[in-house]
Amino acid sequence: MQVPLLDLTAQYAPLRDEVLAAITRVCDSQRFILGAEVEAFEREIAAQLGAAHAIGVSSGTDAILAALMALGIGAGDEVVTPTYSFFATAGCVARVGAKPVLVDVDPVTFNMTADGLARAITSRTKAVIPVHLYGQMVDMDPLIAVARKHNVAVIEDACQAIGATDRGRQAGVLGDCGCFSFFPSKNLGAFGDGGLVTTNDAALAARIRLMRNHGSETKYYHQAVGGNFRLDALQAAVLRVKAPHLEGWTGARRANAARYRRLFEAAAGAAAGAAANPGVTLAPASPGPTPRGTIVLPAERPDALHIFNQFVIRAGDRDGLRAHLTARGIGTEIYYPVPFHLQDCFADLGYKAGDFPVAEAAAADSLALPIYGELTEAQQRYVVDSAVEYCQTLRP
Ligand SMILES: *Cc1c(COP(=O)(O)O)cnc(C)c1O
Repeated sequence: MQVPLLDLTAQYAPLRDEVLAAITRVCDSQRFILGAEVEAFEREIAAQLGAAHAIGVSSGTDAILAALMALGIGAGDEVVTPTYSFFATAGCVARVGAKPVLVDVDPVTFNMTADGLARAITSRTKAVIPVHLYGQMVDMDPLIAVARKHNVAVIEDACQAIGATDRGRQAGVLGDCGCFSFFPSKNLGAFGDGGLVTTNDAALAARIRLMRNHGSETKYYHQAVGGNFRLDALQAAVLRVKAPHLEGWTGARRANAARYRRLFEAAAGAAAGAAANPGVTLAPASPGPTPRGTIVLPAERPDALHIFNQFVIRAGDRDGLRAHLTARGIGTEIYYPVPFHLQDCFADLGYKAGDFPVAEAAAADSLALPIYGELTEAQQRYVVDSAVEYCQTLRP
């Protein structure tokens, strides 16, 4: 049996005619840059996410970049980000000339915390970028309280969290602005790169629109130095077809996550009952390394709706488990093997190994399993059986 990490063909099949019609509509109009298609998408997605303003941009990375530029963040400024995320979160901070100030993450959720922010704030801190990692939101109320107290802007990196909620409120509308990615592997994926910034602040929305288009409102007159961060009309047209299905797709991912949980718990229970053949041990998350033969399933905050862009387990001997799954035709991925503080490009920030032990332990033992909505029960059983089989080989 083959179980790829992600297979988008099944999602595409029922939408094929509608998507091709939307693409044809744009081709027939020969209007490819901004225009009616992008404006319609921005209106529709703003309503769906509960944001007053939505600005389509060229990628999730450019969403973060445009937000930082619109907030006027640059040289001499500090921006707090978790050390454990996709590169863009801290990369964009460095690109605008500001200094990324890194913080460790919570061992249960892999997310940064309000306490981490409070400890990192200095007189130069201008913004914080909480990342809703894997599709589960940061506990936003305490974080926003710390940020407001110190007059620090909150840029949500919601690139993995479209449709996720924290106490019933959607990702991307709690901070000053929210950044989304439509990279094909995200829960709402375009047919190429795309992104979005949401905000409830009209002045900030206008500023982000300006930055998206070289700081220009009137052609060839530039009020600010921005960039080309525009969302293609073709991508907007595809996204308009796909966005109404997001909730259903997220529901399927959540159902699959619940099924993994049941299957792993059943396997652990069966192993405990059969003393002669102890198999997999399930353990709650802990700040340190995961013992061999033990698996930690992803935790869901009771106040949050996790959209499972990734289903990330932790495993003792993660690399051995990954090789075993690969040999059995199961796709996995490591998000992320190297935290920011240990990346070559950030060597000048002066961090060293051991500075952020929770992120370092997570980088060493986390493994993403296939979680896309069209996975079958048989495929999930095969993944769990294969993982349990490997854990059994680790037992004396
Ligand atoms: C995907 C992602 C980004 C960047 O999005 P792109 O569209 O690939 O540029 C930024 N932050 C996080 C957490 C992401 O997962």
